[in-house]
Amino acid sequence: RCFCQVTGNLDDCACDVETIDAFNNNQLFPKLQKLLESDYFRFYKVNLNKPCPFWADNSHCGLRDCAVQPCSLNEVPEGIKSSSHKYSAEANIQQDDCEKLEHLGAVDASLSEKTREALLNWNLHDDESERFCVIDDMESPDAQYVDLLLNPERYTGYKGPEAWQIWNSIYEENCFKPFTVQRPTYPQVFHSSQGKDAWAFYRWLEGQCVEKRAFYRLISGLHASINIHLSARYLMDDNWFQRKWTHNVSEFQQRFDSDLTAGEGPKRLRNLYFLYLIELRALAKALPFFQHPSFQLYTGQPREDQAHKELLLEILQLANTFPLHFNETSLFAGDEKEAVKLKEDIRLSFQNISKIMDCVGCFKCRLWGKLQTQGLGTALKVLFSRRQIEDLTKSSVPRPTFQLSRQEIVSIFNAFGRISTSVKELKSFRSMLAGFR
Ligand code: FAD
Repeated sequence: RCFCQVTGNLDDCACDVETIDAFNNNQLFPKLQKLLESDYFRFYKVNLNKPCPFWADNSHCGLRDCAVQPCSLNEVPEGIKSSSHKYSAEANIQQDDCEKLEHLGAVDASLSEKTREALLNWNLHDDESERFCVIDDMESPDAQYVDLLLNPERYTGYKGPEAWQIWNSIYEENCFKPFTVQRPTYPQVFHSSQGKDAWAFYRWLEGQCVEKRAFYRLISGLHASINIHLSARYLMDDNWFQRKWTHNVSEFQQRFDSDLTAGEGPKRLRNLYFLYLIELRALAKALPFFQHPSFQLYTGQPREDQAHKELLLEILQLANTFPLHFNETSLFAGDEKEAVKLKEDIRLSFQNISKIMDCVGCFKCRLWGKLQTQGLGTALKVLFSRRQIEDLTKSSVPRPTFQLSRQEIVSIFNAFGRISTSVKELKSFRSMLAGFR
């Protein structure tokens, strides 16, 4: 018996773990892996040198495996460099056009109803206000392309008080906890849910509205995914001849075994499945954006680009066929005024978490932390842009008001790729643990 086993229905969802395992491991995972190896998805532009906005300590851990190897500009396909610029230029031109139209609308009462409606839609769609993430300035000289395949997420050795400070401030200050906990002295258990506090914590969590509970579970799912990855690609052999990264079953067990974590491990794994459902739903919903003729998967290599676009659409269509999708309309469904406030609180908390990523002292962890929070932020933006996405399928709406930048596209697919890999790795760990007993 594996003590990290999670089975059955997930809370707040109509879905069960077994359906996700079968769908992910047999159908979606292999296709997604192939897509993420393409040039379009492997190069991610990021600023790893932004100072931490919350506390003065900006020391870097200096661990060998925390280093990130950036690309020189000539390694990045020409089409990616130019299309990143094109995207923002296009967006600016569109915004300018709209501002002119809007001005016209104010003086010209003869504008047709359709144009007025389009203008109204545009005004309602202020990209900044839809964003769940603070994004890096891509024009900054500190922003660099990184080849994600050459800098995989794996064990780095980043741990101790600094890593705890990050997780602590994410959970304590940004997950709507009603009480403040004193700064922990490492290795004291800080936020939760372990030992004698467990009962109070879960009582509190259950009493929260579904939105705040969902928010906590997304962050916990992300944390679980990171810890699965570092256990699955652990530095097991480190000598003059070789450095070998492979599964470390006892590391995994210490983090997720029910007995060793006082029942916490399986709950955290369930949060990982919850996160999977949210990102899967967002990708399925984004299908009209990717089918719209204005979307180009462009690296400058026409044959490969066409093949990768077809693969991308195949993946999204597959995501669309998933039988037990998370129903996002259950969120923010209450009193309208309260719902707007709640959504704004959650958006701001999530933005804060994306800023905390600039405080992570290990560059490799910072890279993947930034990418995954941007990916999740993009998923939330998609989920809560229902109307704008529906407009993409109507020919009567003159301009699409829903936009995703290349950065957002690369981050949402790669972030989902991480979660999908974690679900797959869970299966490997379960088999290994079954073999050990
Ligand atoms: P931690 O994982 O640091 O957890 C601290 C406390 O949080 C635990 O004691 C527990 O009370 C609680 N907790 C743990 N998991 C969960 C969960 N899923 N849900 C709710 N509560 C939980 N290390 C690497 O080797 N490679 C990486 O790529 C990497 N990326 C990171 C990215 C970020 C953004 C951060 C903050 C850290 C990263 N780390 C990475 C470090 C890693 O996550 C751990 O912090 C580190 O391994 C120390 O682990 P720990 O056992 O002390 O507990």
